[in-house]
Amino acid sequence: MSEVLVIGSLAYDAISTPAGKVDRTLGGSANYFSLAASMWSQVRVVGVVGEDYEASALKMLESRKVDLSGVQKQAGKTFFWKGRYEGSLNEAITEVTDLNVFESFNPVIPDQFKDSKFVFLANIAPHLQLEVLSQVKEPLFVGMDTMNFWIQSALPKLKEVLAKVDVVLINETEAQAITGGHNAIQAAERLSKMGEKSVVIKRGEYGFVLYHPQDGFHILPAFPLPTVVDPTGAGDSFAGAFFGYLASLNRKPSGLDLRQACKLGTLTASFTIQDFGVKRLSELTQNELLRRGEVYKNVVEMRS
Ligand code: AMP
Repeated sequence: MSEVLVIGSLAYDAISTPAGKVDRTLGGSANYFSLAASMWSQVRVVGVVGEDYEASALKMLESRKVDLSGVQKQAGKTFFWKGRYEGSLNEAITEVTDLNVFESFNPVIPDQFKDSKFVFLANIAPHLQLEVLSQVKEPLFVGMDTMNFWIQSALPKLKEVLAKVDVVLINETEAQAITGGHNAIQAAERLSKMGEKSVVIKRGEYGFVLYHPQDGFHILPAFPLPTVVDPTGAGDSFAGAFFGYLASLNRKPSGLDLRQACKLGTLTASFTIQDFGVKRLSELTQNELLRRGEVYKNVVEMRS
């Protein structure tokens, strides 16, 4: 088994959805990612928290053997994000992004992280993604995520990151915003050409589009759920399960490996969205995941 290195946000979120609202709940891409990935692999986190970050949040990850030696504590406040969802809940509407301690963050990855073979550059400022990647010696498989905030404020740097990764996991509207593609298929093909990479386009309740340069498209719906409480973190949970699983295989992933990783990502995200914040994901067991996997098989099976 290889370790997965992740750089991303450790955050507090205020979230409002048709199911209710929370004013301050634990969030951030690195938290969702680590909870999901640690079901499959050892996770190493690079990030920064402020003085208000609760020790219990760090303990939750430590209890899953997540290595937090790359997490710095700095004077000031933890990253804060406020968002709301309306209608079909497929897209977050950002109301506030307070970078706080991320504004002056200078990621230095610990020596013992430098041999990481699997690296995930979760949603964070592109210059920080590049900074971390440049410190890893010989990564075998590198992935990234991003969001509209960075597409609007740092597109040239974002394109530099895109050119360096093996897979990009991204929302449909964000993929279209970067490429000018009119649909997920066109956007996936265009993103793939930015460096001969695989692309996973996340489409909320409509599931995902995987494009692999040799194996082509693989498209599946999400696990059907009648009620979604809070979609926050679905993408990061997907990415965590996806990368954690691939790292557990400990080889350069094949197109087939990516297909399986996407299914596990979809299933894991389906649990995350059943409660606010990281609550449901933090309680998830592998047994529950596998049981839901059996139901999902029946949903997507072709019988003729
Ligand atoms: P997602 O999986 O895309 O729903 O990601 C949700 C998480 O992303 C939330 O917990 C936020 O704290 C975090 N987030 C929101 N905006 C940003 C940003 N600009 N940079 C880094 N993390 C963010």
